[in-house]
Amino acid sequence: MSRPIPLVDVKAQYAPSIPALQERFAAVLESGRFIFGPEVEGFEREAAEFLGVPHAIGVGNGTDALVLALEALGVGRGDEVICPAFTFYATAEAIARAGATPVFADIDPETLVLDPEDVAARITSRTRAIVAVHLFGRPAPLAELAALGLPLVEDAAQAFGATGVARTGVCSTFSFFPTKNLFALGDGGLVTSLDDDVAERVRMLRFHGSRDKQTFELIGTNSRLDAIHAAALRVFLPLLPGWNAARREAAARYAELGLGELVELPLDEPGHVYHMYVVRSPRRDEIASALAAEGISSAAYYATPLHLQPAMRFLGYEPGSLPETERAAAENLALPLWAGIGATEQERVVDAVRAAVGVPA
Ligand SMILES: *Cc1c(COP(=O)(O)O)cnc(C)c1O
Repeated sequence: MSRPIPLVDVKAQYAPSIPALQERFAAVLESGRFIFGPEVEGFEREAAEFLGVPHAIGVGNGTDALVLALEALGVGRGDEVICPAFTFYATAEAIARAGATPVFADIDPETLVLDPEDVAARITSRTRAIVAVHLFGRPAPLAELAALGLPLVEDAAQAFGATGVARTGVCSTFSFFPTKNLFALGDGGLVTSLDDDVAERVRMLRFHGSRDKQTFELIGTNSRLDAIHAAALRVFLPLLPGWNAARREAAARYAELGLGELVELPLDEPGHVYHMYVVRSPRRDEIASALAAEGISSAAYYATPLHLQPAMRFLGYEPGSLPETERAAAENLALPLWAGIGATEQERVVDAVRAAVGVPA
């Protein structure tokens, strides 16, 4: 069997940066500043500039970023927050951690992100916010969601660098988990905000509700971005546009190789940064098995959507509650894609899918 093809190859992306990383890590060791300090401030400034937002606040991970953003907006007990069920579990978990009730809305089957019409239908007098997810690197319909008139939080964990992200929602949140488009060498996260007061509250909440380490004004937490991760992120951020362009080129190559005759391809749009390259087929499981037999990794994302997860059972959703979410959960398959995947690897993926669905070349 030929060489296995992983779903993502994170090392292929950072390997060329190892000398630059070593230099920056040496400087951090020399400085002795591991918590806050110039690396964290430098990354916060550079990330804000990159995204075109006034405030960026480093935090411990993307889940904390969501909890802190919601808390800073005053979301809490008795509030409802609308979000998708076709996303990583943390999106809804964070709403519950903030003390509020997640209300799941269905997705648009073409884009797999929130359907604004279904969101509108679920707004009640208790709805305090909407959390939109830029799923798999595709921006959610921000203008339509903002027009619903509620505070909007963008869960941009999968979409650093996607067009327009973080410029509409009052807060946006990012994860630097190592497989995300922009990543740290461990856990890390970021909250951005367009609002000065909300940003100040996030800053306080990430450090025990304090501005000065003397007076504690809020019940916060300890959730910081470490200096060593900020140093790595400062090496990677300038490379991100090139990485995202490489992902878009790889996505285009799958289409050129004829994959669209075999499965439903993700709808392309210029702002999409393909955190994952996700196709659809009613024969998803057969295709995944055939790929595995060829040593090719693939992944069915969110195969049990959030409204049907055990921890969310108390909300009372049943199979059939969110038809498009459930269909996407049953049909989606992420295929190998990273910045730097080779044409020969992509040809092998397409050949294996073709053999699985029985269409002659
Ligand atoms: C990764 C991810 C998170 C959580 O980020 P962590 O850094 O792993 O806590 C939240 N939402 C979405 C959509 C994600 O993909």
